[in-house]
Amino acid sequence: MSSDVSWIDISVTLRSGMVHWPDDPPVSIVRVRDVAHGDPATLASLSLGSHSGTHIDAPLHFLADGVGIDSMPLDATVGRARVVDIVDPVTVTRDELARHDPRPDERILLRTQNSSRVWGTDRFVPDFVSVSTAAARLLVERRVRTVGVDYLSVGSHEVHRLLLGAGIWIIEGLDLARAPVGEVELVCLPLRIANGDGGPARAILRPVHERNGR
Ligand SMILES: [Zn+2]
Repeated sequence: MSSDVSWIDISVTLRSGMVHWPDDPPVSIVRVRDVAHGDPATLASLSLGSHSGTHIDAPLHFLADGVGIDSMPLDATVGRARVVDIVDPVTVTRDELARHDPRPDERILLRTQNSSRVWGTDRFVPDFVSVSTAAARLLVERRVRTVGVDYLSVGSHEVHRLLLGAGIWIIEGLDLARAPVGEVELVCLPLRIANGDGGPARAILRPVHERNGR
């Protein structure tokens, strides 16, 4: 199924000194061997929190009996998805989300004002747009499959517990500034970390044109 539509990278670049959740470990990528210094190969040591940059939360991140990231069904984050524009500058409200009519089994990516304002700085942005408890309840009621957000957290601890407890997979840390609104094809996979509470991920998407069939 070839296509002339280019993939768009919606993950953020991992690098030393990048923004991270305030209490989480920083990202450090250090070359421990370097051909420029006479070594036969170049090689880096990586040190980072499991929720650095673009990543997926596993249920066990908040639920003692939840499964790890290595048990995530691959199609939770690969396949058809929908990008919706959230205009509220403070929070994702239930009313605004309801207007987009989230559907059962849908993978839904919420493009807020975060995407255009948070990723240009290495400083943590505390007043990012997050999902309200009422909006999280709507996602649970509608039994969506996956929700993606464009900063380092989907919302409060309660929001995490509601979503993860309902079996909804959470992608955090997306940069949706260049993502088209509407139906897309999504490919996003976390590192396969044994019993991991989360995993850094690469995420890409491209628009779906209905003439290609569903
Ligand atoms: Zn996370």
